[in-house]
Amino acid sequence: MASQLQPVRGTHDLLPDSYNQHHRVIESASAVARLYGFARMDTPIFEFSEVFHRAVGDTSDIVTKETYTFTDRGGESITLRPEFTAAIVRSFISNGLQQNLPFKAFYAGPAFRYERPQKGRLRQFHQIGAELLGAAEPMADVELIALGMQTLSVLGLKDSVTLEINSLGDAESRAAYRDALVAYLSQHEAKLSEDSKMRLAKNPLRILDSKDAGDREIIAGAPTLHAYFNEASTTHFAKVKAGLDALGIAYKVSEKLVRGLDYYSHTVFEITTDKLGAQGTVLAGGRYDGLVKLMGGQDVAGIGFAAGVERLVALMDSNVAAAKPVATVIPMSEAAEAEGWKLAQLLRAEGIATDIAYKGNGKKRFERANKMGAAFAVIIGDDELSNGTVTLKNLTAGTQETIARDALVEKLR
Ligand code: ATP
Ligand code: MG
Repeated sequence: MASQLQPVRGTHDLLPDSYNQHHRVIESASAVARLYGFARMDTPIFEFSEVFHRAVGDTSDIVTKETYTFTDRGGESITLRPEFTAAIVRSFISNGLQQNLPFKAFYAGPAFRYERPQKGRLRQFHQIGAELLGAAEPMADVELIALGMQTLSVLGLKDSVTLEINSLGDAESRAAYRDALVAYLSQHEAKLSEDSKMRLAKNPLRILDSKDAGDREIIAGAPTLHAYFNEASTTHFAKVKAGLDALGIAYKVSEKLVRGLDYYSHTVFEITTDKLGAQGTVLAGGRYDGLVKLMGGQDVAGIGFAAGVERLVALMDSNVAAAKPVATVIPMSEAAEAEGWKLAQLLRAEGIATDIAYKGNGKKRFERANKMGAAFAVIIGDDELSNGTVTLKNLTAGTQETIARDALVEKLR
């Protein structure tokens, strides 16, 4: 049995330093999303299992192998969210938001998948993402991709990543292709992985997304989807590419790119890096025009993406400065202690980050001030106490001056 004092496998603590980076990713992404008109929202971290099972698809890896599903005390089947899209669409429908389109949402928070933990692959991880509902136009695909790329730029990752796009066409094109694909794969059925054999009947397109090496060899010879596109599918994809070209967004078309979820149509995209080993996809998304209807809503088009916060953090420079106190209050005597706490309280009330040690002599307290990276030491000894002053020491420059206690707040601002 696992020790009770270890975190559960595949989960991790966000200690203050890593929390800073994590937070910076979310805040930066959220600010970029606002520039594009996407407002932040959140949904509960669990839903009725049906929300994910119906949306993500019963043949997807996520639902067949990765969900945390349990029966609660009331007998309901509950699933911890493995991704946000289905939950946001559920929320969009149950809150009656279908009247005011387009609906643009940004989100950030934890997601849960029972995966084999490894570098960049956790059981509780965090995603940021955006969903755009109610715009079927190819420019909506372009806008989402632009948002994803700008988010990575703001995080300083532009030169570390590549944008790959593909189109899965519309339902009609995929149906035509499906037949051709099944005919081809059936000839190689014996050599397919067990998962893929199961998918052959249920959802053959998903085989194209298999990570099994043997499957990948067979897939290399498969007919390509684009040869089966109808005019609407061809036109949509051409407009997306033209839109990206017009905005100067570089991309690579990758016909083998199919996404792991069942609900995609037309555009799918991934932003990948070669710097994170096997876990190289940092951001992924696509169009899901049938999903709202599938989940019981109106026929509303949708497109979105999600990015893994841990993978983004792993790509970023690790030296995000932790927040440092502006001032450290240093009482030099027992008598000055109470006044020191009053001063610290005053500074904090004025919005000035202030540290004060619980105990220790003057020397120890100066050491702590330097270790915490405080900019100033506010020193009160017996003289300062009786004169109504403090000695303010600039810890970077090493200079110090005596000032009236009333002048301290102004001075530190
Ligand atoms: P992968 O192919 O790596 O399994 P996925 O296709 O399952 O990814 P999505 O469902 O598209 O991933 O999720 C979007 C993003 O969330 C991924 O690109 C990745 O950055 C991140 N992500 C997904 N699963 C995990 C995980 N278990 N741990 C950490 N990050 C993850
Ligand atoms: Mg996965």
